[in-house]
Amino acid sequence: MAKIQMKTPLVEMDGDEMTRIIWQMIKDKLILPHVDLKTEYYDLGLEYREKTGDKVTVESAEATKKYGVAVKCATITPNAARVKEYNLTTMWKSPNGTIRAILDGTVFRSPIIVDGIEPYVKNWVKPIAIARHAYGDIYKASECRAPAGSKAEIVVTDKDGNETRVPIMNFEGDGIVMGMHNLDASIEGFARSCFNYALASKLDLWFSAKDTISKTYDHRFKDIFAEIYENEYKEKFEAAGIEYFYTLIDDAVARVIRSDGGFIWACKNYDGDVMSDMLATAFGSLAMMTSVLVSPDGKYEYEAAHGTVQRHYYKHLKGERTSTNSVATIFAWSGALRKRGELDEIPELCDYADRLEAACLKTIADGIMTGDLYSISKLENKKSVTTEEFLDAVAERI
Ligand code: NAP
Ligand code: MG
Repeated sequence: MAKIQMKTPLVEMDGDEMTRIIWQMIKDKLILPHVDLKTEYYDLGLEYREKTGDKVTVESAEATKKYGVAVKCATITPNAARVKEYNLTTMWKSPNGTIRAILDGTVFRSPIIVDGIEPYVKNWVKPIAIARHAYGDIYKASECRAPAGSKAEIVVTDKDGNETRVPIMNFEGDGIVMGMHNLDASIEGFARSCFNYALASKLDLWFSAKDTISKTYDHRFKDIFAEIYENEYKEKFEAAGIEYFYTLIDDAVARVIRSDGGFIWACKNYDGDVMSDMLATAFGSLAMMTSVLVSPDGKYEYEAAHGTVQRHYYKHLKGERTSTNSVATIFAWSGALRKRGELDEIPELCDYADRLEAACLKTIADGIMTGDLYSISKLENKKSVTTEEFLDAVAERI
């Protein structure tokens, strides 16, 4: 059979440790036999980041801006131990942080649902995607303790030196105080990313915050979303048969639990941090969570939500058996190839992506799974296989 031809290259960002091993296996066993794979390759493995003074990370993000679609392997974010282990000249920044800063995006995370792995919430039959705003609020705040007898105010000085003062508290007893901010431009980018992602995935979009209590701060988020929706997206949503609505975060939580899934839930930074961990756990496993960064101008970077699975890598290096789940990394590839297929109008490529994903799900439904899923699967005929055996079983089913 002739291999599927591509038009535009994918930006390929290789990574570290066990996921780097899996990366190569996925290409060799699952993709190259079917697709005449075209990529522009960037090695984001820590050794090459060190060698290039991290320039390779910046170049890979710029290539993503140019070509529009990237697929990324998990990478090490160095800490003190890694600086020693890899003999680094400096503690390089998180590659995801660097890429996000260049693409200015929103991160969408979505669980992969499969027969035999049941979510803790019984009525969730379709995935729930979280869209997390990745800028500001408590992550970029200043805070201090306020001793008894002190007075705290918000002071905003404009460019001409005029002051606006808002009282916070006259402290009778000891207390604490925090100042945080966000930017209209960042919220607008967040909103557009969410609307674009909803259109691309044909899913309803919910946005929740606490505007009843936070009448200026959270209300600004609500207003920006509403304005952009009315002016730029309403007609497109109606044509696609999908819905956007805003609701209070507490109402959203109650509705999410009662729902059968199948929508995107946009959250402010902190809400998204907490709710995405809650959803990932409630759906079963971090190794079954996809992640895609979408920029406001519609560039896509696909990855797995988990890290480099360091503990398994050390076992692999010692020649021991590993049973590492490759599903989220495979879905990063299928997501990127499908998007490339859509943009370049190559239906066979989209079809291949569908078959690749279906093959993963079929493998697990047939009882063939890695250790992480084996421990939670309800299937009676389940069997725990190695990293490589799982990929071979998927390859047979494409
Ligand atoms: P991790 O790689 O996600 O692994 C944490 C644990 O979760 C593993 O030890 C394993 O548990 C389980 N796990 C995660 N993914 C799995 C998979 N695919 N299959 C089976 N089990 C899986 O997180 P970490 O150990 O905290 O971080 C390791 C490195 O990854 C760090 O250097 C960190 O900087 C990096 N990281 C990168 C990204 C990214 O690039 N997006 C994200 C997070 C972390 P058991 O050991 O119990 O089997
Ligand atoms: Mg978190």
